[in-house]
Amino acid sequence: MKRCKEYQLANPDKRKKWKERYKLIAKQKKHNNYTQNRNKILNDSKLYHKKHREQRMEYTRKWRIENKKYVKMYEKTRRTKRMQQKKEIMDRVGILSIVTVQKVYEDNIKKYGQLTCVLCYKHILFGEDSLEHLTPLSRGGTNDYKNLAIAHLRCNCSKKNKTLEEWCKYNA
Ligand SMILES: [Zn+2]
Repeated sequence: MKRCKEYQLANPDKRKKWKERYKLIAKQKKHNNYTQNRNKILNDSKLYHKKHREQRMEYTRKWRIENKKYVKMYEKTRRTKRMQQKKEIMDRVGILSIVTVQKVYEDNIKKYGQLTCVLCYKHILFGEDSLEHLTPLSRGGTNDYKNLAIAHLRCNCSKKNKTLEEWCKYNA
């Protein structure tokens, strides 16, 4: 025991190197274990959370009361982040002007003779119309004239966030 300690003191570099190497190996092992048993680990974690749901909620509640400072800080950063995201989307998407909407309606009637759905090509009755984004805003689309069309409200709803191409494939 004594000799061992003496050896360590005499060779600090060696000890350091060995420690670093061991850390790396342990990290690699952990990573391998995770990739190999990913599903099981995730499932176990899910089960654990489900089983101890109330305990965990109680713990979180307590923690929030005891660490109001952190909670406030966290909420502030989250709020600013969300505002930033919103602003980014607004900047990208652009403002939807009434003139553009009017033009879309007029061009639709000019093209088909009457108000027609671009998704099912059937006539749209009054009150069934809706403004359709060919490429959804959530998928990088904009409020630009080229990205707008008229569709039945029900067709628009069934299209959801698919692009026109995906929707055609989905219905084929
Ligand atoms: Zn339709």
